[in-house]
Amino acid sequence: MVQAVVGANWGDEGKGKITDMLAEKADIIVRFQGGANAGHTIVNNYGKFALHTLPSGVFYGHTTSVIANGVALNIPVLFEEIRSIVERGVPMPKILVSDRAQMVMSYHILFDQYEEERLGGKSFGSTKSGIAPFYSDKFAKIGFQVSELFDENLLKEKVQRICDLKNPLLEHLYHKPLLTPEGLLEELHGYRQMVEPYVCDTAAFLYQALKEGKSILLEGQLGSLKDPDHGIYPMVTSSSTLAGYGAVGAGVPPYEISKIVTVCKAYSSAVGAGAFVSEIFGDEADELRRRGGDGGEFGATTGRPRRMGWFDCVASKYGCRLQGTTDVAFTVLDVLGYLDEIPVCVGYEIDGEVTTEFPTTALLERAKPVLKKLPGWKCDIRGIRSYEELPENCRNYIEFVEKQIGFPITMVSNGPGRNDIIYRQGETAR
Ligand code: GDP
Repeated sequence: MVQAVVGANWGDEGKGKITDMLAEKADIIVRFQGGANAGHTIVNNYGKFALHTLPSGVFYGHTTSVIANGVALNIPVLFEEIRSIVERGVPMPKILVSDRAQMVMSYHILFDQYEEERLGGKSFGSTKSGIAPFYSDKFAKIGFQVSELFDENLLKEKVQRICDLKNPLLEHLYHKPLLTPEGLLEELHGYRQMVEPYVCDTAAFLYQALKEGKSILLEGQLGSLKDPDHGIYPMVTSSSTLAGYGAVGAGVPPYEISKIVTVCKAYSSAVGAGAFVSEIFGDEADELRRRGGDGGEFGATTGRPRRMGWFDCVASKYGCRLQGTTDVAFTVLDVLGYLDEIPVCVGYEIDGEVTTEFPTTALLERAKPVLKKLPGWKCDIRGIRSYEELPENCRNYIEFVEKQIGFPITMVSNGPGRNDIIYRQGETAR
């Protein structure tokens, strides 16, 4: 069977921790979209790690990690990441890289930087990892697929084509140094050398694994609201963040994805530009940011302070629906223990009318939050392992959110560690 772990919101919901936890019982963990532009933070018996390209299952000896066709593969980042975890005592993970994955080239990263520079104050807040130029090229059919690394004649012809296409932009739009066919060829040869031992037809591998009854975990990056189709376009990422895309980005049959664990954080955070209705500012935001996550809400890849807000039932209901949620994992609940009262966004007021349906971007920009305050529980809930032992106000908070979003919260995460988890409704037995 295939399970997906995906985000309901803007990313940073704690998917890495949930994947690391569920990976204990999985055989294969697959990254199916996105690239090294976002990170997962994982705390386990080896220490604390920020992963960007490797799936969050790499810490177990029994799992195989797959970088599937849908990923924006940055080969130097991948190998640096492998080196850095092995250096810290993690056994060398078993890794497979799809022969159909495409590679982030150094010029994608440069174009990302140049474009942000050009846009100045109107920029999208890109992480400048080359993701948008990469996916643009993929769909413009001028990307480099891993399989092409092994066809020297094709490479030679293609690097020239890329220079012909990119250099006019570099020269006239950005006024930057030009690309050379020799430079690109050298870069590609370097990638070939690094990646060759890991390359295979990963979709065929996964098909065979399913036939053998293996358990596969698909790990999503970012969340529903960053999806290019269903998110807050244009402040979105460049590949679909939805579980449904897992079928395409990993090459598995859609009907095999039978469990979709959507991760929701007990409050909101976002990075980059875009409407964020339940956003808070000033001291209130600073305190939540400082206490949030595991050591503060700062980007795992960029170190940027995240924008903070209260839990948004409108956005989360929408985010869970688009994912096709079977289970909600409600995370980072322990962080809210300091509050006397916890505001929750239960509706959006747009032009004088209140709605609980998540609107398109232009309307979203005009939405004001309708907040409801729930009583806090004023204690530390870390270490609690059964739902009944949680303080009553804490259970009320969970059950209120569950009712608002309309999807079952079957897991509650009350700490960053693998074992900081409370299962509800017989979840462990499934
Ligand atoms: P991801 O991108 O969705 O994997 O999320 P991030 O890794 O960016 O952010 C989640 C942060 O919260 C990480 O620092 C985790 O270690 C931490 N975290 C995850 N679950 C919990 C939890 O239940 N409680 C606390 N305090 N921290 C958590």
